[in-house]
Amino acid sequence: KQAGKRQVARLDGHDEAAPIARNALIRRRLPSAFETRRFTLHYQPQLDLVSGDNSTVEALLRWTDSELGMVSPAEFIPIMELSGDIHRIGLRVINEVCMQARRWLDAGVPRRVGINVSPVQLATRRVVSELLSALARHGVPPDLIQVEITEGAAITNLPRAIGQLQQLRDAGISIALDDYGTGFSSLAMLRNLPLNIVKIDKSFIDNIDTSAADALLVRGVIDTAHALGLKVTAEGVERPCQLRLLRELGCDIAQGFLISRPVAPDDLPPLTARTPLL
Ligand code: C2E
Ligand code: CA
Ligand code: CA
Ligand code: CA
Repeated sequence: KQAGKRQVARLDGHDEAAPIARNALIRRRLPSAFETRRFTLHYQPQLDLVSGDNSTVEALLRWTDSELGMVSPAEFIPIMELSGDIHRIGLRVINEVCMQARRWLDAGVPRRVGINVSPVQLATRRVVSELLSALARHGVPPDLIQVEITEGAAITNLPRAIGQLQQLRDAGISIALDDYGTGFSSLAMLRNLPLNIVKIDKSFIDNIDTSAADALLVRGVIDTAHALGLKVTAEGVERPCQLRLLRELGCDIAQGFLISRPVAPDDLPPLTARTPLL
C-alpha cells in the first residue's frame, strides 16, 4: 500500500521526500520561463445545463519547463503570489485572453472567457485598468469576460477589492466566486462581493452521487445562490451520474473532464450555438 502511494506521488511530480527542493527549483526556473515565454493558456469549456450552450471557457495557465516538465499552476501560482510575479503573469494572461477572444470574434465563433484573478492581484489597483485597456485595445466587448476570484487566498483589503470588482461589474464584466466552500468565510463573501456566479469547488462535487450529505450541501448552495440572484457552476464533473444529479438539483452550469479537459484554443469542441452570444 505504502509503495503504491509513493508511486502515485512521484507520477504527480510531488515526490514526498522533496517538496522543498522542488519549490526551490521552481523558484529558480521562473525567471527564465518569463524570458523565454514558456507560459501558455489552455481553455476548458463550460456547459450551460439549460440551453446546452458551450461557448464559455475558462483560461488556465500552463508551463512546460525543460528541467521540471509540466508544472501545475496549483504549484507556481502560490509561489508567484509570494514573489510578486503574479502581477506580471496576470497582465500576460489578460493580454493573451483578449487577443484570443478577438481571434474567436474574427473567426465568427465568439466565446466568453473566464480569467482567474488572485486576491493578491486585487490588492493593487492595477488589474481594473489593465483589463479595461486590454479590452479596448483589442476591441473585445466586456461582457465576453468573466473574472474568477478565488476564495482560498485571504483578501487583505476587502473594501478595496469590493470597489475594484464593482468597477469591473459596472463595465459589463461578470464576476464569479471560485472554489466556493473551501474559503474561510464563504457566507460573508456571498454577502459582500458583487457577484454574478458561484463556482462550487470540485471537492463538494466529487462524491455528490454517493454521499447524501454532500448532495444536501450542494443543494443548499444552489438554492442559496439562486435566492440571491446568482448562477451556479459545478467544478470537476467527471461522471455522467454527477451531471444527472446536478441537473436535478437545478445547477446552471457544469465544468469538468466529462465535458472536456482544458485544451489548446484550436482543439476546443465546436460551438453548440443554440444561444449565440452576439
Ligand atoms: P481553478 O480555477 O479551480 O481551476 C480548475 C482546476 O481544476 C484546473 O486545474 C483544471 O484543469 C482542473 N479540472 C477541471 N475539471 C476537472 C475534472 O473534471 N477533474 C479534475 N481532476 N480536475 C479538473 P489547473 O489548470 O491545474 O489549475 C489549478 C489552479 O491554478 C486553478 O484552479 C487556479 O486557481 C490557478 N490558476 C490557473 N490559471 C491561472 C491564472 O491564469 N491566474 C491565476 N491567478 N490562477 C490560475
Ligand atoms: Ca477558476
Ligand atoms: Ca475553481
Ligand atoms: Ca481550485
